[in-house]
Amino acid sequence: MPALSEVIAALDALWPPERAEEWDAVGTVCGDPGAPVRRVLFAVDPVQEVADEAVRLGADLLVTHHPLYLRGTTTVAATTFKGRVVHTLIRNSVALHVAHTNADRADPGVSDALAGALDLRITGPLVPDPSDPEGRRGLGRICELDEPETLADLAGRAAARLPATAQGIRVAGEPGRVIRTVAVCGGSGDSLFADVRRAGADAYLTADLRHHPASEAREHALHSGRGPALLDAAHWATEWPWTEQAAAQLDEISDRHGWDLRTHVSRTVTDPWTAHAASADPSTDIPGAPN
Ligand SMILES: [Zn+2]
Repeated sequence: MPALSEVIAALDALWPPERAEEWDAVGTVCGDPGAPVRRVLFAVDPVQEVADEAVRLGADLLVTHHPLYLRGTTTVAATTFKGRVVHTLIRNSVALHVAHTNADRADPGVSDALAGALDLRITGPLVPDPSDPEGRRGLGRICELDEPETLADLAGRAAARLPATAQGIRVAGEPGRVIRTVAVCGGSGDSLFADVRRAGADAYLTADLRHHPASEAREHALHSGRGPALLDAAHWATEWPWTEQAAAQLDEISDRHGWDLRTHVSRTVTDPWTAHAASADPSTDIPGAPN
């Protein structure tokens, strides 16, 4: 049975912490390096519901994509919701380890898992990591479809293959547009529009697309006659496939070392948006508005 320090060393080899963005807070949040690890739970968000799930499972280690604390804190008192998570974990001997932007940039990383969930064939990173001589690591992925399909069909596939959320998939573009290449980026991807355009992708699947960058991308496409159609999924849904990929990677390491770890993937939906009220067809006029 491995010690926590051995499991963390294996996770750090998958997602080297030094490859995280400077502003990020990755690594071990709590845990005793010498404690034995039998059971590991993977999840996107270190929220209370997930901490409770780890306790119920009898997990010794919870691995999440998002940090619990992105900035410094002066308290872990259980009167705060984050302090409550820390108390729940420590009281039940559950360690917490975070792999965030270091997992985004890895090969395979978060966007590989997203592409894999849709069975997209990856041709390379959207923004290659300059420190990778093989050019496989980096942010986002460029994918090719084996058979061209319409934007509506691609959106339907994303909705069917990603975990269900209140938001579903928002689409910008002609539903009948034929898509051959797709850029994907798990998590918030609107900082990569210029890279998506440069790559010449027909569509861009990501999350958290804000009005102005999305509007500008659409205007640019209308003006130049080319530019990506947009598919915006819930942030959590675009990153959840990584938890399955990460658990499979640790399973493989466990087999190699004879650790006999039990790995689990949280199916708790931690997308903060809980409902969606569909409005009338937006292609019709605003009711009561003058024509
Ligand atoms: Zn994220």
